[in-house]
Amino acid sequence: MKIRNPYTGVYDYELVEDSGQDILKKTNDIRLAQKEWKLLDITERVAVLKKWIASFTEFQLEITEQLAIDTARKRIAKVEVSGIIGLMQAWSFRAPQLYNPPSERPSVSANTVMIGQQWVPYGVVGVISPWNFPLLLALIDTIPALMAGCGVLLKPSEVTPRFMDGLEKSIQAVPELAKVLKLVRGGAEAGKAVVNNADAICFTGSVPTGKKIGAVCADRFIPAFLELGGKDPGIVLKDADIEVATDAVLRSAVGATGQACQSLERIYVDTTIYRDFVKKITAKAAAVTLTTDQNKGQMGPLIFEQQAEKIQEQIDDAVSKGAKVLTGGKVEAINGGLWCAPTVLVDVDHTMKVMTEETFGPLVPIMSFSTEDEALRLANDSIYGLSASVFSRDIEKAIAMGSQIEAGAISINDGSLTNKVYDAEKNSFKDSGINGSRMGDAGFLRFFRKKALLIQTAHPETMANFEETSS
Ligand code: NAD
Repeated sequence: MKIRNPYTGVYDYELVEDSGQDILKKTNDIRLAQKEWKLLDITERVAVLKKWIASFTEFQLEITEQLAIDTARKRIAKVEVSGIIGLMQAWSFRAPQLYNPPSERPSVSANTVMIGQQWVPYGVVGVISPWNFPLLLALIDTIPALMAGCGVLLKPSEVTPRFMDGLEKSIQAVPELAKVLKLVRGGAEAGKAVVNNADAICFTGSVPTGKKIGAVCADRFIPAFLELGGKDPGIVLKDADIEVATDAVLRSAVGATGQACQSLERIYVDTTIYRDFVKKITAKAAAVTLTTDQNKGQMGPLIFEQQAEKIQEQIDDAVSKGAKVLTGGKVEAINGGLWCAPTVLVDVDHTMKVMTEETFGPLVPIMSFSTEDEALRLANDSIYGLSASVFSRDIEKAIAMGSQIEAGAISINDGSLTNKVYDAEKNSFKDSGINGSRMGDAGFLRFFRKKALLIQTAHPETMANFEETSS
């Protein structure tokens, strides 16, 4: 596969895809090695993770450079890499605390029976990840799955695959790890093979792909942990601090060029402060600089060509139905890259795609509302339920509003806090996902099945106890 460089538009990297046979062999090898891996004491697995932290740090520069090309983001690439080291360290500390199967105890319901309880990890977890934060989303589920004693077959996105070369070196440097963690290269076909071979799936990506994977997993009767798209609403109440709200909304909506699942993608502002809010956020949006010369600027190009088309289509659809563009408003080719300056849209409504379909780009469509009920109705008028924001000086009020929004995480007086906070458990609502949380302790505990060993300490019941009587 020829891979496009998002800065230059040149197809300057070749991804050699794994065949179905390769993927089957990798799965079988992991499956064999996992039998010993799961028997290690958790502290021994943590020792392997610590070796990986050391080797990952050794290849950190190489991985960061590859990631920076993949995503056309230097600073965020550094943050992504250091964030992963932080996650590895956090799990090396937290996993042993959490691994705590209850000790043997008598049953309360059958008092001659002793209960022994085992936690049994899945054999091979298939991890399939998207292109927007390629390293973070490849490893966020992989690390706790490995610590639980699972083996991992990891297929990152084919759109941003360069970082796999450095990552692979860091894995190969730790032979015990390389036996139970294998990378798969390729696109949808490789992903399908992972789903068909693994014992559980952790998928991060779009709703349509997630639904297809969920259906295959249902048919195979294996768990699917699905983390899918969003269309996050932000509600700005009349008593909100407008400087805080405009700064946070803009950063959340256009940071990483809006290519984040938890970006704010539709904003509802109380009618009494709407004009002031729109004026301020438009000025701030117009001041955002593009990184066209690669060494300075705040916002990079769009990573994925097909996404760029979708963004332009949403702008055109909104404008054709009466929306006004106050700043930005066009996907442009500059030196081969595809760019969209932060785009503020007003006079929008829910007949427009920009208010109902995931954008995954730097658009800020804003509507006004007259009552809090109306704001909630609009926020909940969506197939998505990933996360949301509420802005108000009255925290109690913001919490009350947040409690009524159908989404798994609510940021109050900020946007997208789920990209900073990893220790708060959250489930996705509606089409944004299903099954155990990747955040918080559940991120580790969900990889175990609980097995009960039931030990009879008295003589077992006999058939005499089933003798029917006339009374
Ligand atoms: P995508 O669904 O197109 O692809 C994701 C991955 O699935 C890729 O690795 C791809 O090769 C693979 N794939 C494609 N078809 C497959 C199939 N039939 N079987 C198995 N694997 C298959 O998503 P994308 O465009 O890479 O990523 C963007 C999407 O990811 C957005 O919708 C975004 O909101 C979502 N996302 C969600 C989260 C979250 O935590 N909820 C985080 C980041 C991104």
